[in-house]
Amino acid sequence: MILGRSAPTGHVALLHGDTDRGEGLARMLRSAGHRVTLVPEGRRVPQTVVEASPDLLVASLTFTEPPVAGVIRAARQALGAELPVLVVVGREDSDSLVEADEIIREPVDPGELDLRVGGLLRHQAERRFLQRKVDELLGLYKISWAFSLAAGPEGLFGHLAAQSAQLLRAQKGLVLLFERERRQMVAQTPGFGIAPEVVGRVRYPVDGEARSRWNFRKNGPLIANKPQSDSRLLPDMATELDLHSLLIAPLVRGPQVTGLILVADRHADSPFTDEDLNLLLAVAGEASVAVENMRLHEELKRANALLQEYDRLKSEFVAIVAHDFRKPLMAIRGFAELVLEEPDIPADARQEFMRTVINETENLARLADDTLLITRMETGEAEYHWSEIDLGPFILDSVPLGLSEHSILMDIPATFPKILADPDRLRQVLTNLVTNAIKYSPGGGSITIRCRERGSQHVVLEVVDHGLGIPADQIPRLFQKFQRVRSEEHDRISGTGLGLYICRLIVEGHGGQIWVESELAKGSTFGLVLPLDARAAQAHRRTVAAARAKTPPASS
Ligand code: ADP
Repeated sequence: MILGRSAPTGHVALLHGDTDRGEGLARMLRSAGHRVTLVPEGRRVPQTVVEASPDLLVASLTFTEPPVAGVIRAARQALGAELPVLVVVGREDSDSLVEADEIIREPVDPGELDLRVGGLLRHQAERRFLQRKVDELLGLYKISWAFSLAAGPEGLFGHLAAQSAQLLRAQKGLVLLFERERRQMVAQTPGFGIAPEVVGRVRYPVDGEARSRWNFRKNGPLIANKPQSDSRLLPDMATELDLHSLLIAPLVRGPQVTGLILVADRHADSPFTDEDLNLLLAVAGEASVAVENMRLHEELKRANALLQEYDRLKSEFVAIVAHDFRKPLMAIRGFAELVLEEPDIPADARQEFMRTVINETENLARLADDTLLITRMETGEAEYHWSEIDLGPFILDSVPLGLSEHSILMDIPATFPKILADPDRLRQVLTNLVTNAIKYSPGGGSITIRCRERGSQHVVLEVVDHGLGIPADQIPRLFQKFQRVRSEEHDRISGTGLGLYICRLIVEGHGGQIWVESELAKGSTFGLVLPLDARAAQAHRRTVAAARAKTPPASS
């Protein structure tokens, strides 16, 4: 049906008790461009009319099996009270017999029929259009409410996916959010009409795609009514989610796209239109604010939890430091008193005691240094001094060879790109990892230092040992302050649990990452990845952090 000034055409259900006159009317209607379903008398009349779902019912009072009034009532009950009805009456019939929108008398004049039918269809089209607008506005209103009532991210994404799909009469709905670290759009659970395990797998890169493709972050709204063969879309996208038509509107914060709402799959004969897209854009406008508020709320919650954790760690730190400082101090004091009070101690025993005093003093000094360094790095006061490093010679120079009986193997390519890093800090990391490898391999064995390029912008450095190993459940917290493996064998080896934490701070200060893979009683591999230009990586991180501090925290 067309809405506008030109004569609208539509689907007419026609009921007439007189076959010939009925056929005549049907011909007139068809020649005016309408589709006509001529309904014969009989028991199934109401069902036939309802199944035909016409835009207009034209019924003659000659139709008595069943009576027209009953058919009209049943049709309006099933198809909506606004279904227009044009009743055809004979000269002798009373026009108050049935509830009609219009009446036309027989013999029917084609011009008059055209006028009446056209008027009723136009009204019907306008009414439907307005009804749809009201439904859309109500839908939008419901969606805004859903946003303010939604409990947590899951509630919000679920509501948003479901309400958007229902509003657009689509079978599927999904919210995707931009993940800054991995630079990809990630589907949020739950979706609507899409299995959770499928939603869990869905993530699309925002970089590196061919220019001809629609980009998840750079390109705006999208209508694709044949996504499976649409070359603008990633080939897997439509198949993975089994999509047959789709509509995408971006969620934005300022000029940045922070996510997307996708609705998909409508009945094949009603493809998505520009009007649908405008509606989804209106939803996305509302949703952008809600998603941003939710994100800020979640960030606040995380910051609060972090603050509490920080408070707890601070108390723990003070307690541990007091304990760890006291231990060497007590030893120093004990041996010093012994030497002072026992003048007759043999010379070699005296020497042994003094060596212990010196060792413990060194431990104490190291602990004090580590603690100070950590405080400076945590508060961002630690300065980095960048210089170009030739990693091969640098490693050979830094590793404490000859300090133990372990054989130390170097696996470093002959030619290797130079990196920009802080040599003193990097040496500290290397020494720490190699010292640990030696310390926690009490049975001896080989230790390998391996170095490789990763892509064109990064290098990977690994220290491999065949020592005690680390239980899997203790690995996640090893790079935190004062964390030591809790086991009888590890306890026999002295340490403070600060070394790996310092390594992590230094590596992250270089814009890199550190990790460990380990198997109990088999050995461990500590690895780190560094950018070739750590200074640039750090500068970039600082700019982002400064921008974040100025504006509300961003998801881009
Ligand atoms: P520590 O001074 O205790 O050695 P680190 O922070 O350097 O402190 O290491 C933290 C803990 O991680 C150690 O106490 C040890 O239990 C475990 N660890 C570190 N390196 C190794 C390794 N190469 N093999 C097994 N365990 C290790």
